[in-house]
Amino acid sequence: MNSPGRHFLQIPGPSNTPLPILSALAMPTIDHRGPDFGKLGAEVLSRIRNVFQTEQPVVIYPASGTGAWEAALVNTLSPGDHVLMYQTGWFASLWCKMAAKLGIEAEVMAGDWRSGVEADRIGARLAEDRAHAIKAVCVVHNETSTGVTSDIAALRRAMDAAGHPALLLVDTISSLGSVEYRHDEWGVDVTVGGSQKGLMLPPGLSFNAVSQKARTAAAKARLPRAFWEWEDMIAANARGYFPYTPATNMLQALKVALDMLDSEGLANVFTRHRRAAEATRAAVRHWGFETQCRVEAEHSPVLTAVRLPEGHSADALRAEILARSNMSLGNGLGPLNDQVFRIGHLGDFHDLMVTGTISGVEMGLAARGIPHRTGGVLAAMQSLAGNGSPVLDAAE
Ligand SMILES: *Cc1c(COP(=O)(O)O)cnc(C)c1O
Repeated sequence: MNSPGRHFLQIPGPSNTPLPILSALAMPTIDHRGPDFGKLGAEVLSRIRNVFQTEQPVVIYPASGTGAWEAALVNTLSPGDHVLMYQTGWFASLWCKMAAKLGIEAEVMAGDWRSGVEADRIGARLAEDRAHAIKAVCVVHNETSTGVTSDIAALRRAMDAAGHPALLLVDTISSLGSVEYRHDEWGVDVTVGGSQKGLMLPPGLSFNAVSQKARTAAAKARLPRAFWEWEDMIAANARGYFPYTPATNMLQALKVALDMLDSEGLANVFTRHRRAAEATRAAVRHWGFETQCRVEAEHSPVLTAVRLPEGHSADALRAEILARSNMSLGNGLGPLNDQVFRIGHLGDFHDLMVTGTISGVEMGLAARGIPHRTGGVLAAMQSLAGNGSPVLDAAE
């Protein structure tokens, strides 16, 4: 059956793909060894670095984010290496499982799935490790299962205070291009990114921003790697090319995404995300629900995970909203299955998409008979009105 009107894709990634990017994807595929491609490759490889706030190489893979997770591990580590991984939620635990499958000894530092990385705990564990057995610390910047953003600068300070040489590997798959991030300044060794969230592209590209320290470690690391080899990439990238067929059309679209981010200004993009998150939380508070994140300063600008009162099914609510309003919301992952739903507010959106999303949720709550205080949409509108206008403020 035809569903009239535009689908609201309000999951926390993939995010809505704007028309200029869709148009770029529809352009004819070009010769990936021809002169036009060389120019495109050189341009996107150079300009993507600004999104990571780095001067160092960014490697681009034709893969989902999971591929870039694997690339970060196999380039830097050897079989049996000991790594410390902080479990902020579902995505962090998937990364731990991957490390174990690759033959890495992952020490998991458990979290409560309602707050971010505890930098002091990691610092204390590293200080204890006088033999420097721990080769890397792996964390997720924006935990997409819980809506919690961790303080990477604080983690860097804790690692420095412990005087420990471990590499710092950070997953920014759902924060890149949506939340302030500084690969060089925060001394991150490998930053893992993906195309389908803040960068507004469809799924299909992923990234490793790589420090000199990580490249030095890679020269000695012995986990098998071929497709993911950084140095083959970096050598070919020097002239704007790739060692194998890149995702040509996705790179054409990436150039457009970079144009869009530059034209809005990264700082304005980050403000727009924070504003949408605050408005969404105003609605959630008004309804009388809890967010999964319980630390005020750690609420994610990218998504809000909402806990439903006991005895109500988040999946049934999502199904109702999809059928009624043609809107997709994110499900609860792992142990949060059916208890939580996740509202994405990332990538290409404006105020009406935020209030439209919230009205869809509120109509769904009423239809399902889930007790809540009505008027969440008004609370969100008031939050947005009291919070400036990203468009008008940026134009001043
Ligand atoms: C989406 C996401 C991933 C997984 O990326 P895929 O593209 O699905 O492989 C990993 N980590 C985080 C934090 C994510 O949000």
